[in-house]
Amino acid sequence: RNSKQLGGPNLENGGVQDAKNLRVKLVLLGDSGVGKSCIVLRFVRGQFDPTSKVTVGASFLSQTIALQDSTTVKFEIWDTAGQERYAALAPLYYRGAAVAVVVYDITSPESFTKAQYWVKELQKHGSPDIVMALVGNKADLHEKREVPVEDGIDNAEKNGMFFIETSAKTADNINQLFEEIAKRLPRPSST
Ligand code: GDP
Repeated sequence: RNSKQLGGPNLENGGVQDAKNLRVKLVLLGDSGVGKSCIVLRFVRGQFDPTSKVTVGASFLSQTIALQDSTTVKFEIWDTAGQERYAALAPLYYRGAAVAVVVYDITSPESFTKAQYWVKELQKHGSPDIVMALVGNKADLHEKREVPVEDGIDNAEKNGMFFIETSAKTADNINQLFEEIAKRLPRPSST
């Protein structure tokens, strides 16, 4: 079972256990309402439940995936937990993060603008080799789309980020998001 725990994991070793089994801290960023919690619930529990909120204090959810080369990657996922209101906690939140996922809602240009802000924050506080993904969520709402896919692609490219559009509702590209991130993680050199 996937566990939901209080407190943070010990990431003093940079999150790496050994060459075959990686453990990484992943932080989620993005406007409230873009679907961060739903993405995590879809990935970790395989369900879409807009009524259940995982965002609480300093909690995190974890999920392990296996890659084709038999490497496993355990994601320890930190939801923003009111980042904007608790700006003083930002350095703690970013510390030891190997991955940052910046989410916007393709029906909300404001959330896309806000995503650029989070990218700047990452460039300021994040580790220089952090793997960054830009995610356009709610891709199922194509009739309400206001952010063209090209804008997402261009922006991600400009900032050296991996880009993908997802739907937590239909599960489109949710697993792919995490698999692509896993492939981009720096590997410790094996002995
Ligand atoms: P958060 O504040 O970023 O964590 O956003 P939530 O995960 O709480 O989602 C906010 C709202 O967006 C909820 O009402 C969800 O039902 C809705 N939502 C999240 N993901 C999707 C999606 O992929 N498609 C659609 N149509 N709605 C979504």
